Amino acid sequence: MDVYAHPTFDMAVRQFDLVAEHLEIPVAERDRLKYPKRSLTVAVPLRRDDGTTTVFPGYRVQHHLSLGPTKGGIRYHPDVRLGEVAALAMWMSWKCALMGLPYGGAKGGVTVDPGSLSSGELERLTRRYTQELIPFIGPQIDIPAPDLGTNEQTMAWMMDTYSTHMGHCVPGVVTGKPIVLGGSLGRREATGRGVGYLVGRAFETLGIDQSGATAVIQGFGNVGSHAAYSLARHGARVIAASDVSGGTYNAAGLDLRALESHVAAHRTMADFGGGEPIDNAALLELPCDVLVPAAMERQITGENAGRLRCRVLAEGANGPVTPDADAILAGRPEVFVIPDILCNAGGVVASYFEWVQDLQSFFWTESEVTDRLFRLLEGAYQQTLLTARKRNVTMRMAAMSLGVKRVWEAKRARGLFP
Ligand code: GLU
Repeated sequence: MDVYAHPTFDMAVRQFDLVAEHLEIPVAERDRLKYPKRSLTVAVPLRRDDGTTTVFPGYRVQHHLSLGPTKGGIRYHPDVRLGEVAALAMWMSWKCALMGLPYGGAKGGVTVDPGSLSSGELERLTRRYTQELIPFIGPQIDIPAPDLGTNEQTMAWMMDTYSTHMGHCVPGVVTGKPIVLGGSLGRREATGRGVGYLVGRAFETLGIDQSGATAVIQGFGNVGSHAAYSLARHGARVIAASDVSGGTYNAAGLDLRALESHVAAHRTMADFGGGEPIDNAALLELPCDVLVPAAMERQITGENAGRLRCRVLAEGANGPVTPDADAILAGRPEVFVIPDILCNAGGVVASYFEWVQDLQSFFWTESEVTDRLFRLLEGAYQQTLLTARKRNVTMRMAAMSLGVKRVWEAKRARGLFP
């Protein structure tokens, strides 16, 4: 399947192959689990504000259809490629299965820098992309959500475009919507809160006192900022944070509200006065109790993994640690890894709750959402830790093997058609 050739897809395949080996999945059954079931590539023409037309490539990949509809975010970023989207869809499959959600994994994206478009252009691009996806998505087919470069407004436009086409309101077609359109209380904060909850559990496991612990956050978007708030609420000091423009370091702890206002006003962390500038590479190597990579994939590699000085590595992003880095970290038991498919699962779990509420037209309170979220995360954390200890494998291998095994069992139980 050369069509998916991409370093991030290679990485997802390498991880899968290690898990398949560990689970002793017969070689003949591996390709069926590995390759995306189907994918769609579309050309999205956009009428620019200046009257010209630009065509952007768009994608949607559905990794497997064995457990229910597919689920996963939509990414707007200049580096989006089919192979990257396919890798992200594959990780969504293992994540949903680990969390026990009735979904296969999916992901979508448009190769575009959303910051370079006006609000009107973004709306037209989103509506046209959604229109191209109409035969491919739906509450019982595939349910998009926000990811890098997209947000609640994007989901509102997608929901409106789909509903207008159907002739009635279909809130269950996307999650991560504004509350007024059938979004769920607690969804926006869920990924970061989940990261905070799991870091707290890792600290308990390791006997680290949460109050006064130090945290470093790479990426200050929806995941990174809410993870920072959640950690700070439990007494941690966030000593550094960054975005694409670079980062800020302050040993006394960053003023998170001031940082958030600065980012809201300037759309970047550059020139934030509340600390000293630090670049992204140096930030990852700061001594701290918890490091949260919450930006892009492949940030911690064979090159820098040996130099990490955190006690807990909490993967807020998808795929931030490469297999080469994993091999190094396996020999560094002093670094406790909370793997991405567990660590950032709060987002898709709250999305599942949103979808259930939309299908039932019966809505929950924020504490109902958050209590149920923590309960699911707790179960997955305990199962992963137990598996890692019992089988003497890394936390990533434990989490992934739980996810892959569930999909494998579902495929076996359903059999091969025809
Ligand atoms: N984009 C998020 C993720 O990577 C959320 C997906 C969803 O809520 O469907 O997990």
